[in-house]
Amino acid sequence: MLFSVLTIFPDFFFSPLREGIVRKAQDEGKIEISLHNIRDHALDKHHMTDDRPFGGGEGMVMKPEPLAACLRAAVRPECSRRVILLSPKGERFDQAGAARLAGYDQLLLICGRYEGVDERFRSLYVEEELSIGDYILSGGELAALVVIDAVSRLLPGVLGCSDSATNDSFSRGLLKHAQYTRPQVFEEMGVPEVLLSGDHAAIDRYRLIESVRLTLERRPELLAGARFTPQEEKILRRAGLYGRIEAMERAQQAGNDAG
Ligand code: SAH
Repeated sequence: MLFSVLTIFPDFFFSPLREGIVRKAQDEGKIEISLHNIRDHALDKHHMTDDRPFGGGEGMVMKPEPLAACLRAAVRPECSRRVILLSPKGERFDQAGAARLAGYDQLLLICGRYEGVDERFRSLYVEEELSIGDYILSGGELAALVVIDAVSRLLPGVLGCSDSATNDSFSRGLLKHAQYTRPQVFEEMGVPEVLLSGDHAAIDRYRLIESVRLTLERRPELLAGARFTPQEEKILRRAGLYGRIEAMERAQQAGNDAG
């Protein structure tokens, strides 16, 4: 997977991409990240990448020609690709979106600054717009890093243990259960007995129940996308949780029907 980032601040990326899983994935050739400075494609003598908005108003707007030239230089023709603009007006980025993007060979991530990009560049070149949440950042760089990190984790061989991504929060409509490590007693608090029992079936049951309990408490709407095996359903019924999941699903269905 090739991530190509179009930005006027390429230095922004150096340290974040040099740590942890994303660094390892690059070292092992699982992902490649290319940084393209939009300013290098500004052809006027001052290398201007932004200008005042037609019609007046505050702020500056990113000019379309340097963006288009930079994009043309960044595209790798033989790759299946997606041209993405990071934008607070875009569709909300989530785990399902990350999984979908993991299917492309090249993601072109365009980082806006100032008041954003010229509308003509957006409508001619951008295939999708992604927002990382309902707040305004000063630029798309942090959002691009979020996309790179979340997508990289889902690529084959990037995470050490192959199932650590499938058990992550959101991947199956559930928040992940709490975790404990040594010491066994911390400030007079122990850890749940079952986790010390060595009984793996009992541990799996306990973790499933804790996952569902946590999701019901914090993000019940996620459970509409959760699917359980008959065995899991039995465990949850016995724990008195399945009725609440079904009630959640009914409420959501009623909401959908009304909508
Ligand atoms: N004035 C614009 C916001 C510009 S913010 C508006 O009100 O819509 C400048 C740039 O930061 C944007 O072009 C975009 O690339 C990036 N950005 C800001 N918030 C973002 C968010 N929540 N998600 C993704 N990108 C964001």
